[in-house]
Amino acid sequence: MSSCDCGSIKESLMPLAQALSQMLASITPVTDFQSVKLEALLGRVLAHDISSPLAIPPFDNSAMDGYALSASDLTTSDTLTMVGKSFAGAPYQGNAAAGQCIRIMTGAQIPPFFDTVIMQEQACAEADQINFSAAIDSGYKPGSNIRHCGEEIAIDQVVLTQGTKLTARHVALLATLGLVDVAVIRRLKVAIFSTGDELQPQGQALKPGEIYDSNRFGLVAQLQRLDVDILDLGVIKDNKDSIRAAFIKADELADVVITSGGVSVGEADFTREIIEQLGEINFWKLAIKPGKPIAYGKFANSIFFGLPGNPVSALVTFYQLAKPALQKLSGGDIAPPLRIAATVRDNIKKAPGRLDFQRGFATTTAQGLLEVSSTGKQGSGMMSSLCLANCFIVLEQERGNVSAGETVTVELFDAVYS
Ligand code: AMP
Ligand code: MG
Repeated sequence: MSSCDCGSIKESLMPLAQALSQMLASITPVTDFQSVKLEALLGRVLAHDISSPLAIPPFDNSAMDGYALSASDLTTSDTLTMVGKSFAGAPYQGNAAAGQCIRIMTGAQIPPFFDTVIMQEQACAEADQINFSAAIDSGYKPGSNIRHCGEEIAIDQVVLTQGTKLTARHVALLATLGLVDVAVIRRLKVAIFSTGDELQPQGQALKPGEIYDSNRFGLVAQLQRLDVDILDLGVIKDNKDSIRAAFIKADELADVVITSGGVSVGEADFTREIIEQLGEINFWKLAIKPGKPIAYGKFANSIFFGLPGNPVSALVTFYQLAKPALQKLSGGDIAPPLRIAATVRDNIKKAPGRLDFQRGFATTTAQGLLEVSSTGKQGSGMMSSLCLANCFIVLEQERGNVSAGETVTVELFDAVYS
């Protein structure tokens, strides 16, 4: 970069936090919803709060394999007579008199006249005579080992809230409640294409000056993790008519249009000119590294991201900006990135002025402390060092060079990158 650029560019760089809050404020979440069966809920976003139709557990049941009894009986005798059994799914149907107990398995219903379960390891059975002296000697607690009806969830209690993105854990909870299908926000449709005359499909020999299109594959893979419907429009040549036609088609078909390349100030960077004609666009020179030039805006039907062409810049700006935008548009909750302090093992070069997302590998020491090292060369086209990483080393905008041993902030990759 020539020295005369530096001052003016620095002036106009926008902090990432400002771009994020402007962008998120401009997005209205989709509210259309559909009913989806339990089996297909993974990754979907809840359209409404979920209240429990059941108490959980639905009945008092045993937390152990053992014997159910009345604790008061053990104050007069250490041996009780076993009069029956209660299995999970096959409750004991009889009654019991003083001095009696039943054998009970984990998950089996507790008869209403018993109040305690003694685990079988603290009982000694001889035919139907069960001796509990081991439990008495070890000071067992009356009332123990019973999971009470409703102790986890009451009927009508809200258990999951609108906007929750459903993971395996949430699906299991919804299944516990006996729900058959659940209302979720419809999937977003995302159109994507790469721009560049130099970009060639894999499987074809490269001529001088050509490279393979990699951004589209990295971006599509992240979109797959975000559980959207993807319309892959391929590579579009650096030709105004082709780019215009691709944007018009993408806007007709999708909620979000994502492109890479052509948003800079080069002579073949037409993306900017065309999107200015078609929509309401913000061109941001962000105070981040990698990924300074980025376009964000709205067409008639869709929101639009013009990501930088350099591969690391494209993937990092997608992760830091487009991902939260997609999460908001899809009606989902947006969790701010989880950032933690770590001790850095290497010296890191950094000039003040931009928030730097260096690629790092974080580990814990034997004492459980977090340490991080740089994954090496940090050029904005170098995918190999991004592949070695499990986190970003987030170096604040105004920070300068960092020495080994200093404390830095680390942002571990989430499921979209991992
Ligand atoms: P641009 O933003 O179009 O000026 O591109 C910046 C750099 O990124 C150039 O070196 C391009 O060749 C490269 N680049 C652009 N798009 C892609 C892509 N889809 N895959 C790999 N590299 C790309
Ligand atoms: Mg280009």
